[in-house]
Amino acid sequence: LDDDPSFWNDHNVQVLIRIRPLNSAEIISEGYGRCLRQESAQTVVWLGHPETRFTFDHIACESVSQENLFRVAGLPMVDNCMSGYNSCMFAYGQTGSGKTYTMMGEIDKMDGKLSDDCGITPRIFEYLFTRIMKEEESRKHERLTYSCKCSFLEIYNEHITDLLEPSSTNLQLREDLKKGVYVENLTECSVMTVNDVLKLLQQGAANRKIAATHMNSESSRSHSVFTCVIESRWEKDSISHLRFGRLNLVDLAGSERQKSSGAEGDRLKEAANINKSLSTLGLVIMSLVELAQGKHRHVPYRDSRLTFLLQDSLGGNSKTAIIANVSPSIWSANETLSTLKFAQRAK
Ligand code: ADP
Ligand code: MG
Repeated sequence: LDDDPSFWNDHNVQVLIRIRPLNSAEIISEGYGRCLRQESAQTVVWLGHPETRFTFDHIACESVSQENLFRVAGLPMVDNCMSGYNSCMFAYGQTGSGKTYTMMGEIDKMDGKLSDDCGITPRIFEYLFTRIMKEEESRKHERLTYSCKCSFLEIYNEHITDLLEPSSTNLQLREDLKKGVYVENLTECSVMTVNDVLKLLQQGAANRKIAATHMNSESSRSHSVFTCVIESRWEKDSISHLRFGRLNLVDLAGSERQKSSGAEGDRLKEAANINKSLSTLGLVIMSLVELAQGKHRHVPYRDSRLTFLLQDSLGGNSKTAIIANVSPSIWSANETLSTLKFAQRAK
């Protein structure tokens, strides 16, 4: 995996493939055959019929550590948000491909220090707070101060639930000239340390499980969005400055085809809605890529809750990173192919 300092050059959308290691169930039975062969830091070959070669910005093979992945994909997002731009990071892939491991990782075992299995989100905040301390120190004369506020929500079946206050369900999206798009009555918590963030992540993860049980579903069918608004204030030539950057970290619903056969009523509607947020996200990202190439495109932000919520963080000067998670096992060959195709379209 190249540590590429020009991560954001040219285009504002970066696509990275992360291949997880085979799991024990795959190893002890017939699932150890592989459906992928990596050829370089950017190319991977899908070994089905016909063999298909894909090129992406980065490919993180099975042995790439959480820390290494953070350095490539997470670190540039922090730099971007501290400069007052918005960013989104998405983990895409079938259930079991490593989305939550990538975004969160092991967040339960911690004693002051992040463990090796910690995912990108805690690492982003560890780095963010270190950078904030340094910046504030070096720009004391301008009285530079940063403040960070986080929220954590879930979108399931096109309904928004506050993961930090789970009794708040079915929250509404509003649009305001000054604030942009926001979720009405969503909890916002100030954070100053990585431990503050870890507490919110743990609380949200626990509530996500409970919400799923209540709705008789699995968390694999919901999208979770952890957002941090980074505000900075400083004074220069006796003028006060104020700047905001928004960082959105999204663990998407499993991309596997929702079984709609035999489903009726709510179940059928649910299957359609889950596909809707994912497919609209794909369309929005594709339209943005085409816009950047100078083509005339309508961007269908309003067609799903997820894309409407993230409207101000997708496109324009905002940066987007997509981590497409795949399993290398022959068992997942078809799902892996469809993830590679989705990721390809986002380029
Ligand atoms: P998803 O969120 O996409 O459903 P998970 O993140 O829960 O998938 O991953 C499924 C399992 O695989 C978990 O037990 C996780 O710890 C493990 N796993 C996923 N990716 C990796 C990886 N890169 N290295 C080690 N274990 C991984
Ligand atoms: Mg998951």
